Amino acid sequence: MRQDIKQYINGEWVSSHSGQTLDVINPATEEVMGQIAAGNKQDVDDAVAAAKKVYVEFRNTSLEDRKALLERIADEYENRKDDLIDVMTDELGSPIEKSESVHYQMGLNHFREASKAIDSIAFEERRGDDLVVKEAIGVSGLVTPWNFPTNQTSLKLAGAFASGSPVVLKPSEETPFAAIILTEIFEKAGVPKGVFNLVNGDGQSVGDPLSSHPDVRMMSFTGSGPTGRRIMENSAKDFKKVSLELGGKSPLVVLDDVDIEKAAKGAVAKFVQNTGQVCTAATRTLVPESIKDEFIAAAKKAMENVKVGNPREEGQDAGPVVSKKQFDTVQSYIQKGIDEGATLLHGGVGKPEGIEKGYFVKPTLFTDVTNDMTIAQEEIFGPVGTIITYKDIDEAIEIANDTIYGLAAYVYGNDKETVKKVARSLEAGTVEINDAGRKPNLPFGGYKQSGIGREWGDYGIEEFLEVKAIPGYFK
Ligand code: NAD
Repeated sequence: MRQDIKQYINGEWVSSHSGQTLDVINPATEEVMGQIAAGNKQDVDDAVAAAKKVYVEFRNTSLEDRKALLERIADEYENRKDDLIDVMTDELGSPIEKSESVHYQMGLNHFREASKAIDSIAFEERRGDDLVVKEAIGVSGLVTPWNFPTNQTSLKLAGAFASGSPVVLKPSEETPFAAIILTEIFEKAGVPKGVFNLVNGDGQSVGDPLSSHPDVRMMSFTGSGPTGRRIMENSAKDFKKVSLELGGKSPLVVLDDVDIEKAAKGAVAKFVQNTGQVCTAATRTLVPESIKDEFIAAAKKAMENVKVGNPREEGQDAGPVVSKKQFDTVQSYIQKGIDEGATLLHGGVGKPEGIEKGYFVKPTLFTDVTNDMTIAQEEIFGPVGTIITYKDIDEAIEIANDTIYGLAAYVYGNDKETVKKVARSLEAGTVEINDAGRKPNLPFGGYKQSGIGREWGDYGIEEFLEVKAIPGYFK
C-alpha cells in the first residue's frame, strides 16, 4: 500500500496541517491502494506563500534556462516510465497498454512540446520606438480531474513552467499518485524551490481556498461544469484570470460515402476509449438515414468485439470506471436511456458477464435516439454512445451544434468539400477529420459551456502570460 501522506511545499516534503489522510481506491479491485494527505487552507497558504516568494526570480529566468528545465523534466519523466504506467493502471483502472500508449505518452509530449513552443512566442516585440513584452502572470493554481492523471497535470505544468509562473497543483484526490511521481521527477530535474508546490486533498478543503486566495493570479482548471463555475465565482472576488476546460457531448458526423465497417469501428472506439471517461468522447454518432441499417449492424459487431476486463491483463479495450460514484452515475444514465424510449443495441445496466468485483460497466450503445433525450444532451462520462440519424448535411450540422457544449467534434467522409464544409460549420474547439488525431502543438479547449481559454503548446504557454506595453522604450 502506498503511503504518500506529505505535501510538497517550498522544495520539501512536509506534513499537512490537518494531520488527516484520504484513502485512494483501486477501481478494479475496490480495495484501498494507498493514502494521501487531506490538505487544508493552511497548507494552501504555505504553498501560495512559497510560490509568491520565488515569482520574480522565476519570471526573470532566461528562455534558454526554461527550455532546458523542460527538457530535463521530460528526460526524468522518461526515466520513470514504468512507475507512471504502473500507478495509472492501478489508480485509474486504465488498461496497461493504454497507460503507456495514451496516458504516459501524452504527459511526455506536453513537456517536449512546451520546450519547442517557447521559440514561437513573441516574448518581446518592438513596434517602432515602443516595446510589447509578454511575461509570466504569477502564482497559478492548477486543479485537475482524474480521467487523464499525467496528461491533465502535465499540460498545465508545462505551460506554466515555460511561461515562468510558479504553481500550486491540486490533483484529483481519486488519482493522486501520478502527481506524486511527477513531483519526484521535478525534484530530480532541478525545478527551483517554490516553483512547484503540491497540495493534495479534496475540492472543498484545498480547491476552494486555492481559488479564493488573493495572491493567486490565475486559476487553471479542468473538470466538471459545476466545479468550474465555483472556481470562477471564487476567482471573481479579486478578478483572477481563469482558464476552464469543462465537459463535452461531442458529435461524430458520418457522411454517406464512408467505408461503413471502418467508420462504425472508429465511432465505437471514440466513446469507449478510457472507459468513456474522456471529455472529447464522441458520444453522439450522427448517421445518414440512407446508410442507417448497415451502419447499425456494423456498430453492433464493433461493440461485440470490445474487451472489458482486468486492466493489468493485456488486450483490454476498457477497464472499470474510476469510482463507485461514477459507476452509479453511468448506471442511472443507461436506465434513463431505456426509460426515455431509446433502443438498446448493445450493453445495458449491470456489470459485464462474469465480473463481480470492480467498478466495471457494460459498454452500451443506443439507437433510435433523438437529440433531445437526456442521453444525447448530458455528459455521461462512461462508455455509453448514441446513434442519431439525419436526412441531409444541414440537418446533421444543426443536430451536431444543438448542445450546450462545444469541446470536440469529428467528421468521417471521403468527399473533401463536404468534409471541409462540415468541419467549418461545427461549433467546437477541435474538429477532427477521419482519425487525423489530436496533436500536442495544436490548441485545445472548448466553445460554449465546454470552457474558457486554450491549452497545449504555444496556446498553453500564452494562458500563463500577461502583456505589457512600454511606449518610448527605444526612444
Ligand atoms: P470535478 O469537477 O468533480 O473535479 C475536478 C477537480 O476539481 C478535482 O481535483 C476536485 O477535487 C476539484 N474540486 C472539486 N470541488 C472543488 C471546489 N469547490 N473548488 C476547487 N476544486 C474543486 O470533475 P471530475 O469528476 O474529477 O472530472 C470529470 C469531469 O471533468 C467531467 O465532467 C469532464 O467532462 C471534465 N473534464 C474535462 C476535460 C477538458 O479538458 N475539457 C478533461 C477531463 C475532464
